[in-house]
Amino acid sequence: MMGAAFAALGLDWSYTKLPVPPELFEETVRALPGSGYRGANVTIPHKLAALRVADRSSPAARAIGAANTLSFGDGGGIEADNTDAGGFLAALDESPSGARALVLGAGGAGRAVTWALLDAGAADVAVWNRSPARARELAGALGARAVERPEPAEIVVNATSVGLHAEDDPTQLGLARLGEPRVACDLVYRAAGQTPFAGWATRAGARVVEGLEVLVRQGALSFRRWTGVDPPLDVMRTAARGEISPDT
Ligand code: NAP
Repeated sequence: MMGAAFAALGLDWSYTKLPVPPELFEETVRALPGSGYRGANVTIPHKLAALRVADRSSPAARAIGAANTLSFGDGGGIEADNTDAGGFLAALDESPSGARALVLGAGGAGRAVTWALLDAGAADVAVWNRSPARARELAGALGARAVERPEPAEIVVNATSVGLHAEDDPTQLGLARLGEPRVACDLVYRAAGQTPFAGWATRAGARVVEGLEVLVRQGALSFRRWTGVDPPLDVMRTAARGEISPDT
């Protein structure tokens, strides 16, 4: 996705996968600027360490407590951001201001989405999680409302990993309790066809926001941070769809 975006804009940049063991994370990150890197995307299990290693961080990264994007500016120093939050809002393509929302899942993605909804002015954000203590902790930290059971809302977001594997059973998410949401977003994505959650949401009459669009939009925000250039969204969408293996 990033490689296709660089090529489309004629930028002589490359995007490289660096597998890094946790014990070498800080040392590796500190060596990157001197090796010509302008930034990095950071994923599990390094998102907390990425925030800790940074000299400066965005309000989103600080509030969420994790970073997925590092930038190495010309002036030196490491900047941390969390583009999962902004990417979700961009993909949502409408303001959640004043809306009632339900977030399923209280892992890293649930935390980013909950913060994004509240920061964008949602009137009420309920958080349900399979392990209730995690939902209570998240809700308490961010000012959301932990719920023991999924409940109806205008905007529903699946931020669990249910749907990642073909055999996953979406009834584990309590979908029968959710009524008919106006908008439903599944962070889980597939190369082709709908995820079980997106399929349920379509049948319930919701406008469906796909996880692939969230993936593209969070990447696009990272791209803009590093290059200062508008990202070619359609090129990124096509490339992302082509890169996902059909069994995910
Ligand atoms: P995580 O921190 O590992 O959290 C996983 C979440 O899924 C937890 O809330 C967990 O509940 C829940 N869960 C797992 N199995 C479940 C089951 N059988 N029934 C009910 N809940 C279950 O992972 P994450 O980083 O938040 O990511 C979550 C999903 O979002 C992943 O599929 C990831 O690929 C996707 N994601 C997509 C994007 C995007 O750009 N589209 C961005 C970020 C994440 P417990 O706490 O009870 O274990």
